[in-house]
Amino acid sequence: MTALIINGKELAQNTRQSLKEKIAKLPEAPALAVILVGNNPASEIYVRSKEKACLEVGIMAKTYHLEETINEAELCDLIEELNQAKDITGILVQLPLPLHIDEKKILAAISPKKDVDGFNPLNTGLLIQKNSDTFIPCTPKGIIALLHHIKSDLTGLNAVVVGRSQIVGLPTAQLLLKENCTVTVAHSKTKNLEAVCQSADILVIAIGKAEMINKNYIKPGAIIIDVGINRTQEGLKGDVDFNSASSVASYITPVPGGVGPMTIAMLLENTYEAFLKQHNS
Ligand code: NDP
Repeated sequence: MTALIINGKELAQNTRQSLKEKIAKLPEAPALAVILVGNNPASEIYVRSKEKACLEVGIMAKTYHLEETINEAELCDLIEELNQAKDITGILVQLPLPLHIDEKKILAAISPKKDVDGFNPLNTGLLIQKNSDTFIPCTPKGIIALLHHIKSDLTGLNAVVVGRSQIVGLPTAQLLLKENCTVTVAHSKTKNLEAVCQSADILVIAIGKAEMINKNYIKPGAIIIDVGINRTQEGLKGDVDFNSASSVASYITPVPGGVGPMTIAMLLENTYEAFLKQHNS
């Protein structure tokens, strides 16, 4: 079998085009405040691509590039100012933050109504309660959109999510449960990972280990979602060995061009949704 590619780049482009048309009809442009602390080169690249994507669809992007030495209280003060600002629709704090800053405290400081990344604990709780009045974290939301692109009904499928981070693994598992999948979450302490993965009709890999998952982990005909972004000497690599996995899977997302573009598209969608919520209440 040679797997079909799930083209995240194309799906993201379609999503962005449709958002651009909807945003053009709003009475004013939504605005996303992006907070970047320090000079992490990967974070700087991510922030630049988010700014560019915002501008393309008609969202104003305001980046606050802060010194590495900023303290927690100063950062919380800026977030509170942005929480109150009428002209700011969404707030995103680019992670990771420097070690002297408590990430959880900062994410909790963002107003849940402007929390377009969906990392505020209130929004996390609402997601678990299946309450739709929340912001779904962008990468998991993008993963579900990619799956729906090839299969409208995921009911009854066995889904294995490898990785249990707050940002990717856990919310993805939660959303797959909502889709009526039977979900297993695996992690670094999981025994016999190969056998666990082989039970998956849908295998989502978010571990940050370049090309670790090969065909030995994959049930013939499974759908593979590769979330990993690993910078190697040979360029960007996913967590999945693409050629090996493609020989047994039915569908697979490439890296780059799979989950990454969808993450940004979902950020734009969440910002648009935040605007609607703020202007309807
Ligand atoms: P984290 O480091 O926060 O979490 C990694 C998870 O993988 C942990 O739960 C860890 O287990 C598990 N893990 C690590 N090694 C193994 C292993 N050998 N076997 C099984 N499980 C393992 O990473 P993130 O969730 O933030 O990101 C994961 C990957 O996805 C990264 O490559 C990141 O760059 C990428 N990413 C891509 C995005 C995109 O838009 N495409 C967005 C966000 C992330 P344990 O909990 O036991 O430590």
